[in-house]
Amino acid sequence: MKKIDKSGAPKFFRDFIRRNDPVNWDGIHEIKHGLREHILKREQGFKCAYCESAITSDNTKSHIDHFKRKHYFPKLTFDYNNLLVSCNNYNHCASVKDSKVKSKDYYKDLTNPVNDDPSQTLRQFPTARANFQTLTFCTYWLQTKYVVSHHRYNL
Ligand SMILES: [Zn+2]
Repeated sequence: MKKIDKSGAPKFFRDFIRRNDPVNWDGIHEIKHGLREHILKREQGFKCAYCESAITSDNTKSHIDHFKRKHYFPKLTFDYNNLLVSCNNYNHCASVKDSKVKSKDYYKDLTNPVNDDPSQTLRQFPTARANFQTLTFCTYWLQTKYVVSHHRYNL
């Protein structure tokens, strides 16, 4: 996982929100694909925000993930900095994150690639400083990338 620099919400997204004032995530259905394509191309280099596997904007390969779930943070539904593109791999990345998060408090222990520097957070991964949630989450999302991360971050 790498740090992701959000480039600011694209104009088409801001305009759509202002014009349509959608009440929920389904309300932006017509621009979802374009938004996913934009995030993948401009910010993530067509890689999953979590495991860095190569993905496309094909609906079967990726989806826009709310890092902080809409269920717990409805006000962040259209917050551009909360939107990441994740792979759709079963038992991986966004699906694991969302299944592990049981309350708002869980987010304190999760690495957010937008706000945190994953190279610093993950450096602590194998140590006793990593708490249960971090350890469990990283174990899942790094399961195919562990060797790469191990090397890259010199754990
Ligand atoms: Zn992934």
